[in-house]
This record gives sequence, C-alpha cells and structure tokens, in this order.
Amino acid sequence: MSFNELGLDPSLVRAVQARGFREPTPVQSEAIPEILLGHDVWASARTGSGKTAAFLLPVLQTLSQPRSQRERPLRGLVLAPTRELAAQVSEEAAAYGALLPDPVVVRLLVGGGSVDAQRLALRGGADLIVATPGRLIDLLEREVIRLDALEILVLDEADRLLSLGFAAAIERIVQATPASRQTLMFSATFPPAVQALAEQSLQQPVKINIDSGQMPEHDRIEQRAISVGTARRTALLRELLRTHAWSRVLVFVATTRAADQIVAHLTRDGVQAAALHGELSPSARTGALTGFEEGRLQVLVATDLAARGLDIDQLPAVVNYDLPRSPTDYLHRVGRTGRAGHRGVAVTLVTAETASHLRLIEKRHKLSLPREVIPGFEPTEPAPAPPAPTGHRPDPHGGIKGKRKSKKDRLREAAARAAKS
Ligand code: ADP
Ligand code: MG
Repeated sequence: MSFNELGLDPSLVRAVQARGFREPTPVQSEAIPEILLGHDVWASARTGSGKTAAFLLPVLQTLSQPRSQRERPLRGLVLAPTRELAAQVSEEAAAYGALLPDPVVVRLLVGGGSVDAQRLALRGGADLIVATPGRLIDLLEREVIRLDALEILVLDEADRLLSLGFAAAIERIVQATPASRQTLMFSATFPPAVQALAEQSLQQPVKINIDSGQMPEHDRIEQRAISVGTARRTALLRELLRTHAWSRVLVFVATTRAADQIVAHLTRDGVQAAALHGELSPSARTGALTGFEEGRLQVLVATDLAARGLDIDQLPAVVNYDLPRSPTDYLHRVGRTGRAGHRGVAVTLVTAETASHLRLIEKRHKLSLPREVIPGFEPTEPAPAPPAPTGHRPDPHGGIKGKRKSKKDRLREAAARAAKS
C-alpha cells in the first residue's frame, strides 16, 4: 500500500513523504479512505502506530474543500485529554493544513493559556480547533465559539475522554454539535466500560481494530520488572541511569509530590531532570516537556498526565517508579517508548506492597515478567502477601497499588483532573 492510493491530495502525500514516512501504517491505510468517504470511524490500534496522521490527513483534506463564502464557521474539532497532547496534535495539523491548496486554519484551545488571547486568535475564524474539553466548554459558555456548523468531531484517546471525569464534558460538547456531523474515535484501548458510550455518539461507524488493547510486541518494547525495597527506588533509578546509556528516560509516578521529590533528588545528584504534572504552572509544564523533547533534560518525572498520546521522538526508556492504576494505564505508559518503528525498554519497579497489583496487570495483558534483582538493591522487606483471590480486580479509576477508593473519592479526583485539562 502506498500513500498515493488512499485518495489523499498530492500536497499531503508529498508532505508525509518529506517527513520520511515511506508507506502508510495499517491504521492509516484502513482509516484514511473511510474518513474521506465521510463515514464515522471507530479505530483501535497500538500505541505509536500513526493514529494522529490517520485522522488528521483526511480531516484536513475534507475541511480544505470549498466552503461557503460568508464568515468562516468552525467546521472541525479534535478533542484530546491533555494540553500537551492537544498541542502536539495541533502543531501537526497546522503543518499539514498549511500545505493544502486551500489552506486550513488551525487553532489550539487549551487550559492554562489566557482566554482573551484565545478569543483574539479566533477573530479571523478557524477551520479546525484542537482543544481540551474543559477550556472548550469555557469558551462555549462565553459564546466565544459555536459548534453549530461543525462537520467533523474527533476524539483522540477516545476511551479516556469517555471515561469518568471527562464523559459529562464530552456529552455537553457533543450536544452542541449538529447530529449530521462525522464522528471519529481513536485510541489504543477501548475498555468495555466505555464502549456503549462510544456507540451513542457514532452513526454506523466503520470499526477498525488492529490489535486492539494489545501490548506492543516484545521485539519492539522490552518489558522488565525489578524487585526493590520501596525506600530504595530513587537510588535504584540513579543506578539504572548510570548503567544504561539512555539518552532520555520518562519516569512515571503516582503523585505530584513524588514527582517533585524525585526531581529534587536527581537534581542534587547533578542529573538534568524536571517534573511534569497538573499542579505546575502552564509555563513550567511547557518548559519541562520542551526541555525533554529538545534533549536538555535527561529525565522527565511525570504523573499519568504524560501517559496518553504524547509522541516524544526517540524516547528509549520508560520507568514505572510507581505502578499505574490500571492495566490500561500500563499499556499507555509503556507505549510512550518504542514508537514509529524504534525500539524501547519499559522498566517497572515492584515492591512487596505492589507485587500483587503488578501480577494483576500482567495477567490482564497475558505477560509474565521475570522479577529481576539488582545487586545492592535487593528487597529486604517481608515476602509479599499471597496472590489476591481470583475475581479481585483493581478499579481502573481507583487508587494505586490495588487499594480501592470510595466512589466519592474517585469522582472528586476525576473532576479535579478534568478541571486541570
Ligand atoms: P499513535 O497516535 O498511534 O500512538 P502517532 O500518531 O503519535 O501514534 O505516531 C507515532 C510516530 O510515528 C510519530 O512520530 C509519527 O511521526 C510516526 N509515523 C506516523 N505515521 C508514520 C508512517 N506512515 N511511517 C513512519 N512513521 C510514521
Ligand atoms: Mg495518538
């Protein structure tokens, strides 16, 4: 299959070839023609398999087609769960959109930025907006934007957007759009809990399923688990940085506080590190990610804010310092490495406390990771408790380490997360 056979405008084909894409990935070959035909698409394909271009190229081409002469109504909307992902997607959209014979005007609307600046940026009109749900609703309420002429709605990381914390916002946004719109949903995972919700917003969707929910192959991402004492994890992280020639490492932690503490520790040791989490100022968030992407920082210590969608060029390693809440989060975290045909390694630190939760994650993904012990970092804690009784599953939205949180706690946390988006 070649990019020439998908029905794309020659300007877009030249653009992807100039980026070094030799042939479309499977999700691109399947989704692009369907989207150009105007169908709703529900696509699931592995992390790093090129889903962004799979929706952006045909969406931009559709939006570039002749429009009515009057004002410039908003015709396309892409929603993403975090500012950082929205920014990446909008950059890519703007780059492709500018190349079309009839260029597509793209604007980014995310939390953190000033509403007035965004209002100003929308003055001349936009064809496509890439947004996080919270800020979009804000601008809808202020009547800065309207969605009544919307032709295409895209949910990137759709299962995240349809899950607790975002679902209500998405429903409001969907209700502000015409029923005649084309709807596209993309993700690497679609847990059963969100499937019914997804169906509600789609009309006779073409379902594309390329290894849905599957972990990346082992030859692309090597997964490791290292047993260690809870208190020795930062020292072990230092040791791993010393013994591996990783140009960059993305370290995932469970809390903003842990992120800050680990960064302080690494910085004291002379490691170039920064934190990325929702309690930081917008400029600190941008500075951390840009510094990491541009190679000025070797280590980025992040919460699950960074688990979804981010495409960091040639990231060789991910470390789970704390375990992710759910098997789904595990898959997305690990999927930050080993992208676009590159190889990567994902190292999970496991303690006596988290051993049973990691076993659940492995079971769900049909993995069996040998437990390594690094000399000098042997776990000295008491042996782990026997495996949890079968049937016990960690709540996908619940606490870390398999502890269950009350529904109220979960709702409160989800609302807080969504408000920060
Ligand atoms: P996903 O959304 O599926 O996780 P992305 O769209 O972020 O993946 O793409 C992952 C990486 O693959 C990006 O760096 C992107 O530039 C690259 N890529 C996308 N399409 C192709 C292609 N056809 N050939 C080679 N690389 C590609
Ligand atoms: Mg993506």
